[in-house]
Amino acid sequence: MPPWVPEIETKPAPTPLLLVQSFVNTYEADTDIDLLADPQTARRWLRSCGLLDRSAELAAPQLLQIREVREAIRALLQANAGRPGPTRAQQRVLASVADHAVMRLSIDRKALRLDITPASAQPTDTMIMRLLLIIRDAQHDGTWPRLKACSNTECQWAYYDRSHAQKGKWCDMSTCGNRLKNRTLRARHRPSAG
Ligand SMILES: [Zn+2]
Repeated sequence: MPPWVPEIETKPAPTPLLLVQSFVNTYEADTDIDLLADPQTARRWLRSCGLLDRSAELAAPQLLQIREVREAIRALLQANAGRPGPTRAQQRVLASVADHAVMRLSIDRKALRLDITPASAQPTDTMIMRLLLIIRDAQHDGTWPRLKACSNTECQWAYYDRSHAQKGKWCDMSTCGNRLKNRTLRARHRPSAG
């Protein structure tokens, strides 16, 4: 696995969707660790995965936008898991970049392949567009619906559902699935008041 993939990743998506998954998983609810919490830490992660150029800077307002995009994408993964998707505000976060996106169509003369690349002067916009283009491609090749957010609302870890029926609900059945099952059982067996 590339170094920018969390070590605890047990259900990785295929590349390049793995980048979107790892971007969402820069926040881990269990430990409350956020790799995009401050510019210095964020720069390190975003550079290591190639989303941010070495020369590009990153200030607090841009980082706020990037975190908002992350949560909007997580909401898309909740929709993939059969739960309510992005709120209107989250849809606006994605649309605000998509609506003003400048793209360039290029041709690789050796491989004879056409490619769409973001051509914005803003490094943050370029970064977000790259992620949105990966999502778009995944929606076309059929891998997108398998990338989901864990159904445990306190977890919401992004995982890739490789199961045949695509009915997976948990990032990891042995932790989240059982944890939630036990809680439901306890609630059911709790003696009623009075
Ligand atoms: Zn989970």
